[in-house]
Amino acid sequence: MRLTRFPLNTVKEVPADAEIASHQLMLRAGMIRRLASGLFTWMPLGLRVLRIVEQVVREEMNRAGAIELLMPAVQPAALWKESGRWDKYGSLLLRMNDRHNREFCFGPTHEEVISDIARREFSSYRQLPVNYYQIQTKFRDEIRPRFGVMRAREFIMKDGYSFHIDQESLDETYNAMADAYSRIFTRLGLRFRPVQADSGDIGGSRSHEFQVLADSGEDAIAYCDGDDFASNIELAAALPPGGSRPAPGKAMETIATPGIRTIEELCEFLSISADQCIKTLIVDAEDGGLIALALRGDHELNPIKVQSLPGVASPLTMAAPDRIQEALNCPVGFVGPVDLQIPLFVDHSAAAISNFHCGANQSDAHLSNVNWDRDLAEPQTADIRNVVAGDPSPLGGGTLSIVRGVEVGHIFQLGDTYSRSMNVTVLDKNGKDCTLLMGCYGIGVSRIVAAAIEQNHDELGIVWPEPMAPFQLVIIELNPRNQAHVTAVADRLYDDLKQAGIEVLLDDRKARPGVKFAEADLIGIPHRIVVGDRGLTAGHVEYRHRATGDEENIPVDQVTQFMSQRIETSSTSA
Ligand code: ATP
Ligand code: MG
Repeated sequence: MRLTRFPLNTVKEVPADAEIASHQLMLRAGMIRRLASGLFTWMPLGLRVLRIVEQVVREEMNRAGAIELLMPAVQPAALWKESGRWDKYGSLLLRMNDRHNREFCFGPTHEEVISDIARREFSSYRQLPVNYYQIQTKFRDEIRPRFGVMRAREFIMKDGYSFHIDQESLDETYNAMADAYSRIFTRLGLRFRPVQADSGDIGGSRSHEFQVLADSGEDAIAYCDGDDFASNIELAAALPPGGSRPAPGKAMETIATPGIRTIEELCEFLSISADQCIKTLIVDAEDGGLIALALRGDHELNPIKVQSLPGVASPLTMAAPDRIQEALNCPVGFVGPVDLQIPLFVDHSAAAISNFHCGANQSDAHLSNVNWDRDLAEPQTADIRNVVAGDPSPLGGGTLSIVRGVEVGHIFQLGDTYSRSMNVTVLDKNGKDCTLLMGCYGIGVSRIVAAAIEQNHDELGIVWPEPMAPFQLVIIELNPRNQAHVTAVADRLYDDLKQAGIEVLLDDRKARPGVKFAEADLIGIPHRIVVGDRGLTAGHVEYRHRATGDEENIPVDQVTQFMSQRIETSSTSA
């Protein structure tokens, strides 16, 4: 591609509303343009990368035996009413009516449509298993679209769905999909981890996420080097601490703490550390009442774990301050476990400390030297916190580390959740009706592009993993005085390298060298060759590798061979 024919509209300034590197760089490199909140146009440069991702995904899905189809993006409400999700899915679902006032939605996912296909197409166990997939536009009316295409409202997903007669067959396809996903992210040149995951609203049991490791990722992953444990922090179990509680010390006392509402303020005021405090949070109960949750001051509540406690309202909601005031006669910030008049769940770690500090259930006061089994009853304990670095691994192989990741893929065993509500059955070997088991497998195709940049960039711009680069090589022509021999060499190299099967971008514009270099770095092309008068006089062009900064002068007649070799080695080592 010649840059004189390829509009590349790069931007120097960092766009004001873009918070993370990938969003900033995708806008600056001219890969995407925003149309409205969560809606983006893929400009030609961005689309090249998106198509590469799609291609790798498609090849690996086909290799793993999945079969491509394409379902409508717009789906009738009737199917969603059948599965029960028309009401359950909430505001994420974009709903619309047609000219006859019939209800539809724009698909955020396709379990209902594929289940309808399966119940019509399959009648016998002999036709199974089948694993369908599509690559298609989804719409989810996200509460907070942000980070560009990372969390958009309209985005491209590869979604796959498999149907099985028994668990063994489902396990087999699930494992094949997990392997295919690992191959996809390896081929794309990404550092990633498969982790155990919560299956969320979609239902079902076994579930794994594929996380691209990046410091800005929205997800936290707990893993242990000493064993195979790797899990989204949402799901990672915090083991109860071993050993017994230290013996109680001095008597409990009430301390005046005017205006001290947070654990931080309390720690500073009393010169204590947060792990000696207990914080008490109040959430709504299923029956309309309130439920209290007590944690050590240095720990964080895990909403997924709390949501599964008996009696807690789902989705989890923190109780409104005026309800707390009304029910407990005490402002938020001073609530504590002693003499509390509502049900209380205490985290294992909070139940293991003695002589702690907590709210006194009255304005402007806290309690010190509080002890379980002395000043208040032995608590009802549960695991309700996020694990932290240094916690023991649930598999016993050592301690946990925490890293951040971007969820780029998610596979689930749905079991019969949808097949049952939508009546997806076939006749089994004995001629009896058998409800099918289902698996579903998603990849955020458009999110992968952003995740790759999040993981691979520097202060100059994007540093594409070689397999994802929109062009493999950029030839920069330095030609301020229109010297014919420079143009001739650049043109010849461009033709020869294209002939050799390399995706080449030729910067043949009349722009200053500094501008050309900066743009090539910004858009992240892995290999760069500079053709200029000075080098040609000495018989060479200048090569530079974007990721390592390695530079070398290459004799003009050896460029094709050198580049073919470079690109061959870097793609096989990826
Ligand atoms: P998240 O937890 O990030 O909201 P999810 O668990 O709701 O995602 P799934 O239903 O598992 O998402 O969808 C499959 C994949 O689609 C995800 O793994 C993710 O890569 C991608 N994806 C989901 N929501 C978005 C979005 N709003 N923008 C871009 N990609 C998305
Ligand atoms: Mg998910």
